[in-house]
Amino acid sequence: MEQTVKILVVDDDEVDRMAVRDALVKAGVHMELSEVSDGNDAFSALSTATFDCVFLDYHLLAQDGLTLLQQLRSSEIKVPLVVLTGEGDEQNAVQLIKAGATDYLSKSRISPENLVQVLWSAIRVYQAEVQVALANEQLRESHEELIRKNQELERQQQQIQMQNFKLLEASRLKSHFLATMSHELRTPMSAIIGFSQVLLRPKFGQLTHQQTDMVERILNNGKHLLMLLNEVLDFSKLEAGRLYFKTEIFDVSKVINLTVAEMRSLADAKNLPLLVQNDLQNALVFNDPVRIKQVLINLLSNAIKFTESGEIWVEVKELPANRVAIIVRDTGIGIAPRDFKRIFEAFRQVDQTITRKYPGTGLGLAIIDSLVRMMGGKIFLESKVGIGSMFKIELPRQITLSTVAANAPPFQLDGDEILYSAQNPHQSSSQAKSAPIGYPKFKL
Ligand code: ADP
Repeated sequence: MEQTVKILVVDDDEVDRMAVRDALVKAGVHMELSEVSDGNDAFSALSTATFDCVFLDYHLLAQDGLTLLQQLRSSEIKVPLVVLTGEGDEQNAVQLIKAGATDYLSKSRISPENLVQVLWSAIRVYQAEVQVALANEQLRESHEELIRKNQELERQQQQIQMQNFKLLEASRLKSHFLATMSHELRTPMSAIIGFSQVLLRPKFGQLTHQQTDMVERILNNGKHLLMLLNEVLDFSKLEAGRLYFKTEIFDVSKVINLTVAEMRSLADAKNLPLLVQNDLQNALVFNDPVRIKQVLINLLSNAIKFTESGEIWVEVKELPANRVAIIVRDTGIGIAPRDFKRIFEAFRQVDQTITRKYPGTGLGLAIIDSLVRMMGGKIFLESKVGIGSMFKIELPRQITLSTVAANAPPFQLDGDEILYSAQNPHQSSSQAKSAPIGYPKFKL
């Protein structure tokens, strides 16, 4: 063995100490050997220096081995320790091992081979114990770290829940505010529009050319503002799940023609031909005509707004599976594919800058997207920047219970046919009761 080991022999018998020393020398152990004859000296030696191994006589005169072991343990002095026992002491040696000794060897078996074997084995066992203790300590620390992190995660989760709750509350308040404000603003706006219309009638006196021009501007701006207010109001109702459908059977071609006629002046103002192609065989649908009109107005006003030259087309046609398509095409600025999804989100516009060329709330497509979904329909968009856009709405001819029921529960079930009408949220319950119930049975 090349390694020098520091060994302490604790024995009150000079002859026994010599036997250990001789055996170690004979075994060729490279060592620094210290010898003491009682427990007190052993304790002070171990307190002041480190040893690789201690050979301890079980029977010390002043103090037995067990007391020394306890003393070492309470002072947290750790060292590989081999107890040397006399005849019949084996039982006590087991006790000492329980108290912290590494191994024991009967004095009668002391020989160079046995001693060197027990020496290295004690050192190895001790080193293994140290490593296990170290690993345990590291495990304990990681366990504590995990508990700390877990607590931190729980705390963060609670904070997120709290923030979520606050956000939901803020969003609810925002929707409420939007709904109240737009509703309140509509009343004076209706008065402005109404009185401007009255002023333009000749029976209330002739206005000068300049005055007519000014009143017309008030009227047009009032109408535009009312449309914006209606968009905000619809959006907040949709968000709150309180936008109701008033369903009926009607001629969709008539609604489309009327809407196109209303929008024609806007297209004319930009010199844009507004063409309609209607290929419907059966024009009857079961839906809410006001909402169908709203969808078309939105698509048409966008088409007109975003087109500087060319044409606008409206096409209506039958689709398989009893569905109907309403298509609006334009030759306008077009939309890049990366914006296809985004423009259907509320307040999203391709140009989000304050100085943008085209005005608007950014709510139109979000609203019609929700409306079309509620009708059980789909919107398809095809567009090329600089070439134009095509918005295609596919709708079931008859909107179904599941789509409408989300808005207003059916109030009459008639055999196989489900007849229902949505209630106006602003209608009082007595008015609602007196409203006509259901529709004549009609095959669509
Ligand atoms: P708004 O028209 O009030 O800005 P919309 O929700 O109706 O809001 O439309 C969102 C955005 O989608 C528009 O700002 C525009 O960038 C784009 N967009 C909609 N329709 C068209 C169209 N026909 N041509 C080009 N861009 C369009």
